[in-house]
Amino acid sequence: MTAIAPSTRPRTPRFAASSRFWIATVVLVVGGFCAASALMLADLHRDTWDQAVTGERNLVAALAQNIDRNIELYDLSLRAVADGLSEPDLATLSPRVQDLMLYDRSATGRGLGSLLVLDRDGKVVRGSAPGFIGADLSDRDAFQAQKANPSRGLYISRPFRRRVTGGDEVIAFSRSLRAADGSFVGVVVGTIGLSYFHELFAREDLGRRGNINLFLLDGTCVMRLPAASDIGRSFAGSANFQRFLTAPSGTFSGTASTDGLQRIYSFARVGSLPMIVDVAMAEDDVFAAWREKTAIVGVALAALCFLALGLGSKLTRQLERTARTERRLSESEAEYRLLAENAQDVIMRLDPSLRRSYVSPACRSVLGYEPEELVGRSPQEIIHTDDWPTVAALILSAREGRSDVEAVYRLRHRTGRIVWVEGRYGLLPGDRGFIAVLRDITLRKHAEERAAALNAELAHLANNDALTGLANRRRFDEILEAEWRRAERDDGPISLLLLDVDRFKLFNDRYGHQGGDGCLRAVADAVRGVISRPGDLTARYGGEEFAMVLPGTDAKGAAVVAERVRRAVEALALPHDGNPFCGGVVTVSIGCATSGPATGRQPDRDALVAAADTCLYEAKRTGRNRVTASLPDAPLAPVPADEAERLAALAAYEGSGALAPSESLDRIARVAAHLLDVPVAFVSLIGRDTATLVGRHGTEIDAVPRRDAFCAHTILGDAPLVVPDTAADPRFAANALTRGGVAFYAGAPLVDPNGGARLGALCIADTAPRAPLDDRGRDLLAALARLVMEELESRSAAPRPDDRARAA
Ligand code: GH3
Ligand code: MG
Ligand code: MG
Repeated sequence: MTAIAPSTRPRTPRFAASSRFWIATVVLVVGGFCAASALMLADLHRDTWDQAVTGERNLVAALAQNIDRNIELYDLSLRAVADGLSEPDLATLSPRVQDLMLYDRSATGRGLGSLLVLDRDGKVVRGSAPGFIGADLSDRDAFQAQKANPSRGLYISRPFRRRVTGGDEVIAFSRSLRAADGSFVGVVVGTIGLSYFHELFAREDLGRRGNINLFLLDGTCVMRLPAASDIGRSFAGSANFQRFLTAPSGTFSGTASTDGLQRIYSFARVGSLPMIVDVAMAEDDVFAAWREKTAIVGVALAALCFLALGLGSKLTRQLERTARTERRLSESEAEYRLLAENAQDVIMRLDPSLRRSYVSPACRSVLGYEPEELVGRSPQEIIHTDDWPTVAALILSAREGRSDVEAVYRLRHRTGRIVWVEGRYGLLPGDRGFIAVLRDITLRKHAEERAAALNAELAHLANNDALTGLANRRRFDEILEAEWRRAERDDGPISLLLLDVDRFKLFNDRYGHQGGDGCLRAVADAVRGVISRPGDLTARYGGEEFAMVLPGTDAKGAAVVAERVRRAVEALALPHDGNPFCGGVVTVSIGCATSGPATGRQPDRDALVAAADTCLYEAKRTGRNRVTASLPDAPLAPVPADEAERLAALAAYEGSGALAPSESLDRIARVAAHLLDVPVAFVSLIGRDTATLVGRHGTEIDAVPRRDAFCAHTILGDAPLVVPDTAADPRFAANALTRGGVAFYAGAPLVDPNGGARLGALCIADTAPRAPLDDRGRDLLAALARLVMEELESRSAAPRPDDRARAA
């Protein structure tokens, strides 16, 4: 089963591993960025430091060189004065020449003051500027230092302010003057204004918080920019200064004792002089640009990290969700699988090309196949051929995305028997095919079929007559009611025929009740066979009576149908001894009633039934085996011109007793029927309202209304009247006798030999139309009519019965 089961591989770890890979990748990329940026910034930091240090060192070297060169020049001037004074001939020269000799080589650089010569007591004895002669400078350290150690060479003093009004700040340089024996005789001293250093230092830009300093070796500050207020102050105790003393030149980072700022210190000794120059740039200034870049990079990296963090957490959440969904999926997949494996319905999965990729084990009990036998095959193979279009439509609906699609169809069990299933198809998302669920409803289907058959049978029983299979009275009432309403609504005609088997009681008596039943069935079949319109209804009305409802049929149409029914029953030719006057066969009498615009409406359907019943009664009364309809009256025969004389003559014959029915007249009628080969013949006398049949063969009727009598037309002429098809003759089409079954008629008038009045006629009739009588037939009929008159004549001349009685 595993080969055909839906995939249940655990997908969670695979997804988690790939997601962890992506998270690691993001972390690595971001970490790499950060590390590279840190390296770059460190490199930049080193470069910045190196650049600053190089710049400082170059500056320190340049300043030291500049100061050293200037002071060396000045020292040369001091030496020149000392050398000049030691010349023994100097005193021999004039004072002006002495000055020229002594100060000729004196330096004239910026900031350099006048050169003064002091005696061993510190009094100014000579000078390049005359204003100082006589001044006592014995308290100056430049004098004191030389006096204390005359062999010391050049001495540089601490800064001091000149003793003249508005005197500027200077430092002094001194050298001792010695006699030939080496004893101390005085000092030559000169000054240099601090403005020289100030100008020198001020040219350099060391940033907002950079410093340039010039110290004496004892730590005295000679010049300091920008904080000039520290000039003269001793820095001998500061840690930084102590580091200046450790090497001729160098660079270090230290904290300033004055303002606590971290600076980069570069220092160098000024030549061989007891002076140190140093440049110190604030690290804040040096690294300001670097910090700015660091900040930008930091912000960019922070943004990157934030983004990565955001992405990472989103990814993590997504992964957790995916993992959860996957877990749920695999759980529910397992559940569904459990359901599918244990369901009684057959559950199938079909790929998009409709091949089964999974079939649940229920197929064993429902279809008799192993799941493996069905997998990989098309469902069409076991679907009943007639039902495949239904299933194809079902699949199409499912493919269109409808979820509520199902159909009932037939499958072939492995054994060949039919299995009814209710199939539901659902489309799997992502064009992955279909899920089909088949429920075996064979038992239900059979039960339904049995119930349907039972219902149909019950309905049939409820609506049909058991003996004849025709609609029963209940059904008749229903249909008549419905059709009556429809006719009313549509203002259309509706006709009703009521049929009654003639003398059926006698039939039962003669042939037994079972024979009677068989007769009724045969009559019902005959009646049923006449019906041609689907809307017509034939019902057993009760006993040996039948009814036909003819919706949309007018009176004329109804008469045609009724006549067809009558003839159809007669044509059965079922022997009926008790019905001799209707040919000895089973016949029916039919009453027709119509309600409609042409014939006038009946007030209600009961009135329609009553009208049909009345007509039926009339048909019975007027001889049976006939149709009687409530049709418009047939045209009346014109009254003969000699009507009064004719009636008088008739009365005379009647008075003589000649008109009473008699055997002799019946015989003549029989002869006429025999000779002219018709079933019916009779002698009729036309009275004022009634035609009276005085001699009869083949009919029991003894009188008919004059308006219905064919003979009323015969007495209008002398020649015989021949009507080959009564229904086709406008004079007789609506005649009650025509509707009652008379289809052929011929009559020869009975002419009174005494006055020529036509009293009646000798007639022959048939229930089927016939060819017109030929001359021989007409002559025969006329001859027989004359025979009748002779008989009447003879009977009127003969003594009347009461006379005979009297005579006897
Ligand atoms: P008419 O020509 O005037 O109609 O005479 P009739 O004898 O047919 O009239 P009647 O109504 O007197 O007799 C009807 C008979 O039909 C009475 C009954 O015995 C018989 N009958 C009614 N229903 C059935 C039936 O279901 N089976 C049989 N065999 N006879 C039936
Ligand atoms: Mg009856
Ligand atoms: Mg009857």
